[in-house]
Amino acid sequence: MCGGRPRPRYVFVFQCPTFLLSPPLSFKLLRVNAEIIAVGSELLTPFRQDTNSLYLTEKLNQLGIEVAFKTIVGDSRKDLVCAARIALSRADILIFMGGIGPTEDDLTREAVAEALEIELRRDPEILSKLEQRFAKRKMKMSPNNAKQADILVGATVLPNVNGTAPGQWLSGKYDGSEKIIMLLPGPPHELRALFEQQCMNRLRAKLPPRFIATRVLKVAMMAESQCDARIAPVYKRYPDVQTTILAGAGEIQLHLRTQAASLEIAEQKIEKLAGEIEDELKDFVFSSNGESLEQIVSYYLQMRNLTLAVAESCTGGLLGQRITSISGSSRYFLGGAIVYSNELKTEFAGVSAEVIAKHGAVSREVAVALAEGIRQRCGANLGVAITGVAGPTGGTEQKPVGLVFHALAGESGTEVIERSFPGDRKRIRWFATQQALDMVRRKLM
Ligand code: AMP
Ligand code: MG
Repeated sequence: MCGGRPRPRYVFVFQCPTFLLSPPLSFKLLRVNAEIIAVGSELLTPFRQDTNSLYLTEKLNQLGIEVAFKTIVGDSRKDLVCAARIALSRADILIFMGGIGPTEDDLTREAVAEALEIELRRDPEILSKLEQRFAKRKMKMSPNNAKQADILVGATVLPNVNGTAPGQWLSGKYDGSEKIIMLLPGPPHELRALFEQQCMNRLRAKLPPRFIATRVLKVAMMAESQCDARIAPVYKRYPDVQTTILAGAGEIQLHLRTQAASLEIAEQKIEKLAGEIEDELKDFVFSSNGESLEQIVSYYLQMRNLTLAVAESCTGGLLGQRITSISGSSRYFLGGAIVYSNELKTEFAGVSAEVIAKHGAVSREVAVALAEGIRQRCGANLGVAITGVAGPTGGTEQKPVGLVFHALAGESGTEVIERSFPGDRKRIRWFATQQALDMVRRKLM
């Protein structure tokens, strides 16, 4: 498809005879988008991941630049040219990383030159520096190293303090639109130093000041569709705030993000929308600053000076693990028991064998007895219990996989919640701990 596409006519301003008459380049667009192009066949295998783009995205966002596309392309000149042309058609800023070393498969320079239809020039100063570098180590420079001195005509050379291949920066008009193109080295320590020292300020100078504000709201035990149905009318009134809904087992994260000419304005906008969403979802929102559910539970237990104990069957300690992942949990978490067998439900939590025989281990009655028993045996203010069928085996018609009972015993009585969770064993177990933690949170709110 790429090969058949008509090539846009490029006019790079530095080559254009009207260059001197042109106003200085600066993006007038309010939103500038970038495409990151990671180059390297190893990044298309199961063994190596493109991590550079995560770093770059963070840095670009700090400048108010949104990353609209990420592309990973192997060391093939044809594919690279294709990727470069597509990126030119849709992004304002193109960042190529990798493929600028000395080896046969380092083809980024050549491919970008071909896509832009401009020449490469061999820079004598870079070449001499390369030669000196080898001479200093008493090594003879092999001829393939010279191509690291090939620079796109019109590009600025970006010195690479941690490696041999310099980066390149090109800005100009392509097919009538302003573009910035960067060629950066692939090794992460080279890329980071170069980007911070050479690219951040250059980008800042080109762009109007933009500030990004973000907020993460977390919602417990609500279906994604239900959550969206309630908040869509709210966030649709804020078209300039990007709202992303990320749903997990028993938790939905609402990522809000906006940009403005000042940080204050951006934050005000986010604050307003976050407030309206919280008003709509009320106590389903458990965190507005990124805290986990176990952190919130920790906060409430300490605030109220209460202690907690757990009796876990199908979660096998996952609840205790989550509670104790919080530093300082010894102030409120006493401990508990993993009561997988019926015998230990009786021995460790005092559940009567008759109750188990009559109702089954996965039942409302056993959940209640477990919560009350563990509370009493541990001498805790609150006792939490989980018993259920995590699957994939062990389900019956009456008690299918995913059925979980959660109980919370306290001074004023015991509550039980019966749920039927979807998903595999891992997901069901996580759901169950999420529900149990949410019961504690709601009790203490
Ligand atoms: P190159 O500049 O293509 O020779 O890449 C050199 C090395 O940098 C590769 O072998 C990778 O280990 C690393 N590298 C290249 N691109 C990336 C990337 N996008 N993310 C993380 N590491 C990378
Ligand atoms: Mg490579």
